[in-house]
Amino acid sequence: MAHLEAQREIPYNLFKAKTPLWGEVLETYRLTPPERPEENDVRHVVLSSTGLSYLPGQSVGIVPDGYDPRTGKPHKLRLYSVASDSKGDYGDYKTVSVVVVRHFWNDELGGQNRVPGVCSKFLCDCEVGEKVRITGPVGKRFLLPTDYQQRDLIFVATGTGIAPFRGMLKQMFEEGYEGQVFLIFGVQHSDTVLYDDEFKTYLKYPNYHYATALSREAAKNPFPDIVPTRQNKIYVQVRVWELRDELRASLAKPDTVIFQCGLKGMETGVMNVIDKIGLDLGIDNLSKELQTDGRMILEVY
Ligand code: NAP
Repeated sequence: MAHLEAQREIPYNLFKAKTPLWGEVLETYRLTPPERPEENDVRHVVLSSTGLSYLPGQSVGIVPDGYDPRTGKPHKLRLYSVASDSKGDYGDYKTVSVVVVRHFWNDELGGQNRVPGVCSKFLCDCEVGEKVRITGPVGKRFLLPTDYQQRDLIFVATGTGIAPFRGMLKQMFEEGYEGQVFLIFGVQHSDTVLYDDEFKTYLKYPNYHYATALSREAAKNPFPDIVPTRQNKIYVQVRVWELRDELRASLAKPDTVIFQCGLKGMETGVMNVIDKIGLDLGIDNLSKELQTDGRMILEVY
């Protein structure tokens, strides 16, 4: 991994929890149709952040207002991947954007179901003009290689795990990227594909390849024996297999990097299918080899 980080200054922890940056909500809007249930309530939030520099792939901390009723202490910060490029959505280096899904959890000890997640509720309910405490940035691993320009890159995302790839793609195409890039993105429905219009605008570049995996539409996994998925759903690993010929050509190159961001569950499925593609290249355990070489970079929860 060290070679990916050569000669770059990575902004780090410029604002800490005790001395956070006070940002203001400049814009907040839902990325998914309002008729979809709360579990599909995903928002794009633009915060003013003058003085905070960051790279796509890094995360910022958000400190929700209020106190934790269990400890009586102020809420702790939660990390969100930055969803903008370094310039920010307004291009003036004065904003940072995040993408947030309204999260619910079951409190088995307290016997309460569908408890709203503290920070996702705070951020999803924030209105324009409200002040929000921001910390960071943090993260030195999930970054574009400094010499990414001619490398092939494979981005695999599920749900809000799309955040880092939005900023990376914007930066890459603005900087005249010359490699082959694959964006393989899994969500539940055709109308919940986050930033779909934006990702389609890059289709004008012949070196950009975009595929979505819609897990709750009618189509079923056509390769259940080769790429098994829960209830034969179309998951990102199915699309990886469908694109195997193009991906094999990229994976045959010694400097291609795969990034995975999103649900922990995708990791094994994607690794298995990469290993299958590797066998055609005469490589046993290609996913392990890529990891050892720092060319399989994961941010999964
Ligand atoms: P989600 O809507 O629950 O899932 C996204 C897609 O992944 C759905 O189509 C889902 O299918 C599918 N999926 C489920 N299990 C899978 C598996 N084993 N293999 C492949 N695909 C699978 O996602 P979300 O609620 O947005 O959550 C995204 C995750 O990304 C969270 O864990 C979050 O912590 C993490 N993350 C977020 C950020 C951020 O900045 N917000 C950054 C990095 C990572 P089904 O639901 O139909 O099974």
